[in-house]
Amino acid sequence: MDVKYDAVVVGLGPVGSFMALKLEKYGLKVLAIDKEKDIYPLPRAVSISDQGMRMHQSLDLENIYYKNSDAPGGAGFVNENLEFIGEPMTMKGLNTPNGWPPMRFFHQPYTDREIRNKLLNSSCDILVEHELLEINDSNESSCSIKNLNTNETINYEFKYLIGADGANSKVRELKNIKQEDLNYDRDWIIIDIELLTEKELGEFAIQICDPKRIGTFIPTHSPFKRWEFEIHDDDNIEEFSSDKNINKLLSPWLQPKEYKILRKAIYQFHSVLAEEFQKDNCFLIGDSAHQNPPFMGEGMMTGCRDAENLAWKIIMDFEYNLPNLLENYQIERKEHAKYIVENSLGIGLLMEAYAHTENKEDVPAELVAKGYGSFIIPPLDKGIFYEGKSNPESMSGQLFPQPVKIDDGEITERCDILLGDYFSIVARKDIILSEDEKKFLSSINSKILILDSELVDSNMWMSTMVQEDKVYIVRPDKYIFGSTNENVSLSDLIEDLKIRIGFNN
Ligand SMILES: Cc1cc2nc3c(=O)[nH]c(=O)nc-3n(C[C@H](O)[C@H](O)[C@H](O)COP(=O)(O)OP(=O)(O)OC[C@H]3O[C@@H](n4cnc5c(N)ncnc54)[C@H](O)[C@@H]3O)c2cc1C
Repeated sequence: MDVKYDAVVVGLGPVGSFMALKLEKYGLKVLAIDKEKDIYPLPRAVSISDQGMRMHQSLDLENIYYKNSDAPGGAGFVNENLEFIGEPMTMKGLNTPNGWPPMRFFHQPYTDREIRNKLLNSSCDILVEHELLEINDSNESSCSIKNLNTNETINYEFKYLIGADGANSKVRELKNIKQEDLNYDRDWIIIDIELLTEKELGEFAIQICDPKRIGTFIPTHSPFKRWEFEIHDDDNIEEFSSDKNINKLLSPWLQPKEYKILRKAIYQFHSVLAEEFQKDNCFLIGDSAHQNPPFMGEGMMTGCRDAENLAWKIIMDFEYNLPNLLENYQIERKEHAKYIVENSLGIGLLMEAYAHTENKEDVPAELVAKGYGSFIIPPLDKGIFYEGKSNPESMSGQLFPQPVKIDDGEITERCDILLGDYFSIVARKDIILSEDEKKFLSSINSKILILDSELVDSNMWMSTMVQEDKVYIVRPDKYIFGSTNENVSLSDLIEDLKIRIGFNN
């Protein structure tokens, strides 16, 4: 007999784990599987953004990342003498509208371990050493999963299946989803070390534009450090990845006795995007949907944004039968993910241009804009927004600032919880709703939040971004659905919300 789950999550990397916990939080019956026995023991992703911290905060996981991470001083491009080209971006001491510093560098084995423990203690059913083999779409949706210890295959029925199974996704293959190649394939070596001295190597993540060989240095979470260097066609891979050569590559920073090599891995950096992020009731999130060179440090973040975006759509479809929401997952996420892929490779192209142009001012402005512009994450463009699209004036498509309490310039409390887990209506003054509007909003579990002065006055972001006379509808993932203006009333917003989500009751 088949066993039935609301959702099956395939792959327990950082993105699949986040998704499983997100769905579990809303009460879905979740099966989450991975073909490996345990977490991957070496670091891959190293950076978590302000939005990443905010998303993990929604699951009480933010401290796992915070305590296992350090804030960088900033990021920039340097020449072969390690001198900055142009102004680096400084980050230290800053908090963004999301209520967190722009970026922190974490040690993934530490964070993955704690998140795996959370998963094992959650109500999700977790099967490790289990591999997805088939997805059966005839009749009821089901999938065959093989126990790699016993070779037994079991069928599981599901309402939703989420492929978080990485770059070589089986879900993508089984659903016959092709990938669009954005044509940036380069071999790089990744070197992770543990520092054995107190030596200061700087707090800036730097893109090294050295004509002899471009590279990247990431200070990561002390005492760990990472370097990445491009491999050339005429490099002998065996010699290149030898400890002797690594010592040579790191010699501008460290002597061999000052560090222990934790990992040296050769990766081909790809830039690819799945043509579809949804097929039937199967969805791709994370590396299964997109892969990019790591220059922007956004691979895992893009995956977590997929999960955050999809989770509430699944939950609201599950609870209120709103399939229209699910169709908007791909509409909202694919273009956004493509921007990240293109801008990540834009950083690679700018490094190459800086390295091979004697007078740095001659590097085309377009490349410079793409490289430095990559530090800015754009709003969502189309989807479940007022009139279906983002709008800079109403801020629809942008993230609503996190309400925070501030004392003496320091954030003392982060209050996203006030916005709730579903849609919320937010204003700085009392609002009036008709009985029908109240009924609709309560039937989709919405909250009303009137921001008091404690949450506005000391918070620069809240007081400048959220205007006194406007009412905002904020989505469960904290993106703004829309806001009122002289031509758009709250009733207009609510009517449009009903249409966008496909509400018929
Ligand atoms: C060198 C390098 C540096 C990077 N740096 C950064 C960075 O600084 N910041 C950042 O955000 N990202 C970075 N990334 C990207 C980041 O590592 C990935 O985006 C992230 O790991 C993707 O997570 P995921 O959960 O989508 O996939 P993965 O972590 O690949 O997890 C997929 C999981 O699915 C499982 N699986 C696969 N097939 C099956 C199957 N058939 N059945 C069951 N289970 C299956 C696998 O065992 C695996 O555990 C970097 C990547 C590389 C290679």
